[in-house]
This record gives sequence, C-alpha cells and structure tokens, in this order.
Amino acid sequence: MSIYELKKDINLVFLEGEEAFNQLDNSEKLYAYYMSKAAWVGSLITSKQVSPESHDLIKFCVSIFHENDKLDNMVSMGLKHGFSEEESNDFLNYFAIICANMGNYRSFGDSKIIPHIEKRRMIELVSALFKDYLIVFMKLVDKIYSLESKERLLGFPPTGTTSYFSSNVTKDEVSKVDRYLVSKGIEGWNTQLTKVDTESGPIYFINIASAQIPPEKHVISIEEFEGSDMSVVYGNYSEELGFVNNYLQSARDNVDNSKYPDRNKMILAYIDHFRYGDIADHKRSQSHWIKDIGPTVETNMGFIENYRDPAGVRSEFEAFVSVVDKEKSLKLKALVDRAPEFIETLPWPKEFEKDTFNPPDFTALDVITFAGSGVPAGINIPNYDDIRQKEGFKNVSLDNVIRSAYGSNGNEPEDYLTEEDNNLYKKYVLKSFAVDVAGHELLGHGSGKLFQENIDGTFNFDKEKTVHPITGDVIKTWYKPGETWGSQFKQMGSSYEECRAECVGLFLATNHEMHKIFEHTDDEWEDVMYISWLWMMKGGIASMAAYDPDSKEWKQAHSQARYAIYRVMLEAGEDFVRVIKNDAGDNFTVCVDRSKIISVGIPALKNFLLKLGVYKTTADVVEGTKMYMGYSEIDAEHEELLNIHLKRKKPRSEYIQPTLIFYKSKEGVNSVKYKRYEAVNTGMIKSIVDKLGYELEDLNQI
Ligand code: ZN
Repeated sequence: MSIYELKKDINLVFLEGEEAFNQLDNSEKLYAYYMSKAAWVGSLITSKQVSPESHDLIKFCVSIFHENDKLDNMVSMGLKHGFSEEESNDFLNYFAIICANMGNYRSFGDSKIIPHIEKRRMIELVSALFKDYLIVFMKLVDKIYSLESKERLLGFPPTGTTSYFSSNVTKDEVSKVDRYLVSKGIEGWNTQLTKVDTESGPIYFINIASAQIPPEKHVISIEEFEGSDMSVVYGNYSEELGFVNNYLQSARDNVDNSKYPDRNKMILAYIDHFRYGDIADHKRSQSHWIKDIGPTVETNMGFIENYRDPAGVRSEFEAFVSVVDKEKSLKLKALVDRAPEFIETLPWPKEFEKDTFNPPDFTALDVITFAGSGVPAGINIPNYDDIRQKEGFKNVSLDNVIRSAYGSNGNEPEDYLTEEDNNLYKKYVLKSFAVDVAGHELLGHGSGKLFQENIDGTFNFDKEKTVHPITGDVIKTWYKPGETWGSQFKQMGSSYEECRAECVGLFLATNHEMHKIFEHTDDEWEDVMYISWLWMMKGGIASMAAYDPDSKEWKQAHSQARYAIYRVMLEAGEDFVRVIKNDAGDNFTVCVDRSKIISVGIPALKNFLLKLGVYKTTADVVEGTKMYMGYSEIDAEHEELLNIHLKRKKPRSEYIQPTLIFYKSKEGVNSVKYKRYEAVNTGMIKSIVDKLGYELEDLNQI
C-alpha cells in the first residue's frame, strides 16, 4: 500500500458555527448567504488550479450524486450488485476527501490522493451503479490511479504536477516569464501560464483571471522579451467570475451603506477586480477591507495564497465568510492595544521594527464558509507588501477550526507523549493554542520592518547609523527599488515567514503578561506555556510528513517552519529536547525538560528569531537561505523517525462545512437557514453537492 493511498478510515469533522450564525440579524444573514454563494462558485476555480483533473473529479462527484437519492442508498445498492460495504465506503471516502481538498492532492502536504478501493473494482462499481457516467469516468480513471513519479506531488514539471503552468513549461521558462511580469509591472497573483509551441518558437500566454476582456485589450499583442514571445490574455475563469460578480452584487444589495461605507466600496472594488483582472482593484478592495473594522460578518476573497505555485507567484482562489465571536474578540482587542509593549520584547533592535505599528483588526471568528483547497486556523492578509507596510492588514483567528481540530481527538491519547504530558496536553492545548495563534498572527506576521531604498535614492532607514545586530557592521544589504520580500526570498519565503511568526508566537507564550490577557490563572499559565513548547516539538517531528525524501523538498510552509524550530532546540543541547525510541523501534516519546525552558529554550529561540528577523529586514537572502535551509535538512536519524511517524500517523481532520439555504418565510420575507451535516463521508459529499450542484448546472458543466 503506497503512502498516497487513503487508509480505510478517514477523519471528518463538522465545522460547528450555528450558534454564532444565529446571532446575526436577517440582513446580516442574507449578506453572509450571498458572500458564501460567491465564495463557493469561486471554489470551482480552485478546483481547476489544484491539478489538471481535479475540476473534472469534482464535477463527476457532483453529477452522480446530484438530484437523486443515490448518496444515501449507495451502500445498500452496492450490496445488491455484489460490492461489499467496505468497497462502497472506500468509494465514498475517496470522493469525500476530494471534496474536502477541492481536488486529488492534499491541501496540506500537496501529495496525491489515491482511492483505497482497487482500480478494477472501482470501474465495476461505477458501471453497475452509475452507468450513465461511465464514459466520463473512463476518461478520468487512469489519472485517478496514476502514480507516475511526476504525478505524486505538486511541483514544477517535469518532476511534479501543477495547473499553474502547462505541463510543457520548465522552471527556467517560468523564471523568465516572471521576470517579464516584473518588467511590465504585472503582479502575477491571478495569472496562469500556458506555453504554445509554434513553427517559429514558443509563445508564452499569461492568462489573467477576469470575467471580461478589458476594452483596450481586445487586440491581443505578442511582445518579445529576452528572445521569447510573451502575450498577456484575459478571460481566464470568466464563467465562474461572472457568477461570483452576480452574487457579490446581491451581497451588496444587503449592505447598509450608511453603516458600512467601506464594505460597500470593498464589494465594488472586488467586482471591478473580478471583471477585468486588475490587481490594483483588488488592492483597493483590501484597503477598504482593512478599514471595515470590527464587522459582525467578516469576509475576504480573491487570489490570495501563493503556496501552491512552485514558483511562489500565482495564487489560489480562496474566500471565506465568518461570524465574529464577540466575547473572545475582546481579549484579542486587549492584545492589539498592548502590541507595542510586546513587540518591544522581540529580539531585534528598535530600528528593525516598523516606524509605527498599525494595529490590525484582530478578531476571533467562527467560519461559516471557507472555500478553497483547505481550511486554515488563522490568516493574516492581505499578502500585498505595499499595502501591509503602508495601510496594515487584518488578523483573523478561525476559532471554530481550532476547536474542531483539537476537540476531535476526545479522550484518545496523543501520540509521542508520556502519560503525564498527555494529561496536561489535553487540559491545556486549546489555551496554549489561543496564545500561540494570537502571537503568531498579530505580533509575528505583524512585526518587523523591511529596509527599502526608494526610487528617488532615499532610504527608509538610517544607512549610516544603523548597526547590524549580528555582524556589528553597517547595513550592507536592503531591498532595492521595486524589490519586495516575495521577489527576493521567493519560494522559500513563505515558509521562512511562517517560521518567524511561529517563533514569535512561541516566544510570547513565555510572557506572563500575554497569559493574563487570555485570563490564564497564575497557577496554570506555566503549564500552558510548557504545552506550547511541547506542542511545537512534537509538531516539529510530526511535520516531517510534509517532507518528500525523494525530491528532498518540503511541501508545506508551516510544517517546515515547525521542524526547523525543533532542530534549533535540539541543537541547543543540554537534553532540553529528547526523542526516545522504544525497544521495538516502532514508536518514540518526545520529552521537553520544562526546567530548562528559561535557561536553554528561550536563549536559543531568541537567537534564531533574531537571525530570521534581521535577514528578512536586510533582504539578506544569502545568509537567510543558508541558515533556514540548514535547519530544514533531514538527516538519516530523522528519516528513521519520519518512517515511524508515517506508519503511525492518523489521517488529518477534514472539515465538512454547513450550507446556507435561502428561503422565503410564509410572510414573504427573504431569509437564510443554516444546514448541518453528519460527520460522515456522505455528509461531506452532500454538503458539496448542495453548494455546487445548481452552480455547475447553471454553468452547463453537468
Ligand atoms: Zn502564518
């Protein structure tokens, strides 16, 4: 059985948010409804971005289960046709996981998902139960099962799979196209690249996501750049984006303009952006979004995270709708108010900090909709550096995600902990996570300055007087005009930045004042802090599952980050962190010596965080890469631990999300219901069929 194949059991969790949703008034419910509709129709774009076959897999799944009762009766129908309950469940599990990831690659780790049921049985099952769709299925089945080396993981062709470029594009060609984009001042977030070979050489088409073609771009031009032909074309994902805009317009109709002027402008900017694909319009939407402080319904959408483009430029469509938990948000507000005091404790000198800290809006939210390939625990957006530096950003802690992820294991013991640690872990992990996430998002991603040379030759730092805290020398590197964090640290950048934020979170978890804000008592706060360290060390080891030993590449930004922190602590020595293997060699225990957190852990962490911060501030890609990639290396000893972990690890929880259902009350009033699902494979599929069935029908895709 390959590591790509689904295990017999999958781990599904319903994302609970009904209580928070019910606190909304009717117009807020309608607003949430239309924003969710826009989000889910947009998720069809995500499915096209995950892998070349992902969209067809989603379509196939929705088609066979749309408007009939086959989903509920699948197992009994299977039995009648000679398929065991297990086989039918394997089939359902596969499509449930495809729905959760919007495609056949895991959103966490980027590895391919292969069904547990054998290929021949799967074909027989489809021909017996869904014969009308057999032809469609036959076009997909080889791809579903293929484990050719280039299809195991997402990545650059020819060794990996991606939908961000056509499969005939090489890494060098992508670099050239990206240089062209920079030269034209085009930011590549919402683009996709297709190379077409012609008699006189290839043409690189840069496809911009837009519902329509801007009037001035009706004539397509081809331009030469570094000896290659480049062409920018519009209208990618035009059908989906047209629908997104219709729903956005309806959402806007439910916004009280006098109460939420920025929200109104935000939606208009979104509509402009999705219509013609101009990133400047999306930036405008984000500026208004940042100003929409303390909303009851919090949303965002667009081409946001670039983790999955192997070149770290193109971004996945993602959208969320969430409802504020008012009580928890008060604690986070208290943290924002005191942010400067905490930032001062970070290890870099004050010249390395932003001149003024723009306190972001930081709220605890219950997610109602998170459309995309996966559901994160917290987000910090926008990702546009220019907006972050000048106008700020917002932090969002997705509370019900955290509750579901850590509440679901129930009384089952955690892997790799002693019994005593396990008890403490159960008791405090949610509390420790609240502190870590807040520190990570707000003060982690929110801190640190970038030293920049302006276009007029001036600098945003004192070049003569600023001392480099590591070398003691003057500052020799910085961001030149036009250079950004993303353009310099490229693909490694996202994990490096996550690591910096994780370090800040862990560091602040050692600060008693932080715990006071979260109302952790004087008796418990040290236990909570200890669990933060234990969680990071245990998590660092478990994170290796996102490492691909064949390509020696990390497939997930946060995983690499946590592993690096674990390695730093291991290097700190003095038996602060120990991993003890059992005699049989099939299990291990992770131990953190809590008496040494202050004497060994904190100094090592501060030193590491200082370097992460300073190299980022000074655009020192060379030193930054050397250090970070050094700590990311997996030696033979750890490869052994990785193998043990891969055999033991439980499947990750995948979230089933509610559907908001529109209805007219007897009195003729428009209203919205919150539809729940059982946390089983059919519940997951049903939730996606409910969200995408009619959309796909309207798009004439099923
Ligand atoms: Zn982060």
